[in-house]
Amino acid sequence: MKKIDRILNSELEKIKNQGTYKSERIIETAQKAEINVLGKKVLNFCANNYLGLANNPEIRKAAITAIEEWGFGLGSVRFICGTQTIHKELEEAVSNFLQKEDTILYSSCFDANGGLFETILSKEDAVFSDELNHASIIDGIRLCKAAKYRYKNCDMVDLENQLKKSSARIKLIATDGVFSMDGTIAPIDKIIKIAAKYDALVMVDDCHATGFIGSTGKGSGEHHNVLNKVDIITSTFGKALGGASGGFVSASSNIIETLRQKSRPYLFSNSLAPTLVVACLKAFEIINNDTGLISKLHDNTNYFRQKILEVGFEIKGNSHPIVPIMIYDAKKTVALSEMLLEKNIYVIPFSFPVVPKNQARIRVQLSSIHNRKQLDYAIEAFHDCGKTLNII
Ligand SMILES: *Cc1c(COP(=O)(O)O)cnc(C)c1O
Repeated sequence: MKKIDRILNSELEKIKNQGTYKSERIIETAQKAEINVLGKKVLNFCANNYLGLANNPEIRKAAITAIEEWGFGLGSVRFICGTQTIHKELEEAVSNFLQKEDTILYSSCFDANGGLFETILSKEDAVFSDELNHASIIDGIRLCKAAKYRYKNCDMVDLENQLKKSSARIKLIATDGVFSMDGTIAPIDKIIKIAAKYDALVMVDDCHATGFIGSTGKGSGEHHNVLNKVDIITSTFGKALGGASGGFVSASSNIIETLRQKSRPYLFSNSLAPTLVVACLKAFEIINNDTGLISKLHDNTNYFRQKILEVGFEIKGNSHPIVPIMIYDAKKTVALSEMLLEKNIYVIPFSFPVVPKNQARIRVQLSSIHNRKQLDYAIEAFHDCGKTLNII
């Protein structure tokens, strides 16, 4: 063994001993409400496939047609020979949807966040980041030279105290629109108010909101009736908007134009594949035509949240299709998820370090493609397993 293999091997052993080793479950079918895992049919309650578009027939058809018309790939970054008509169309569709001047596409939201901060902020500036922000925001901020402040999760008093300290040229508040371990929607309205008071900009990463949160699915800003006051929105095509991959930033023309000129993951990485672009255009068409998917998702969410409370479990959040079922004890959480899998319910247990110590939970995620029978079956399984394990 080479030296590096010996070192890494012992680190991997440590991860295993700590019980935080992540093994990947193999899915033997397409992404659906009912999938095959370990050779058997299970009900899937852990995908970010909120609107079921990951395997929607219209989206599939759009992707196939796209390959025929626009080809498989471009073999180029955007500014050399990687911008097709459809890339501009998708950017326009996102801008129209989110009511922003312009939009820039990235290979992922991780890249969008990674390329945002260092491009628009410099050392005269300051960024104020929620402590529970996604890893990609944290990494993006690390890359920039601005002064860095961190405020307690959704704590407006702490945010304001931090803002008071700064006399930076540009102040930028950065937050997840939805905190995905808690299923809570950030108080964007309050953040906007404080931002106005301290002349700060607001950036929202709306990955767990775009397409389904807010009355027409425009995200956490719309949910709080302040969509037009959010300066910068980043989000992903990899969750509700088809679930394939890709991300974007929507903001003022000047911000987007600057990103096109200088943002490194945009300049130095391949343009989005035509299949993704055309299928994502179709996703916006479906959402804009309001085919009832969004209300179905929220009906399912409200139903599940109410029933699981009635059964006796404790949950977090109040309206998001992420439903964290609090077990607190890490071992019990794993045992519950394993017992549920025996009953063909596929959910994931989360424990430290993904969530704070003694805050272990099972995160159920609802989708508009779940039907009542499936929800009832899951609730009954939770009830039975919860009783067996003395959780309820
Ligand atoms: C999923 C997620 C990302 C990453 O999105 P990708 O497009 O998969 O890279 C970034 N931020 C948040 C808040 C997310 O939930």
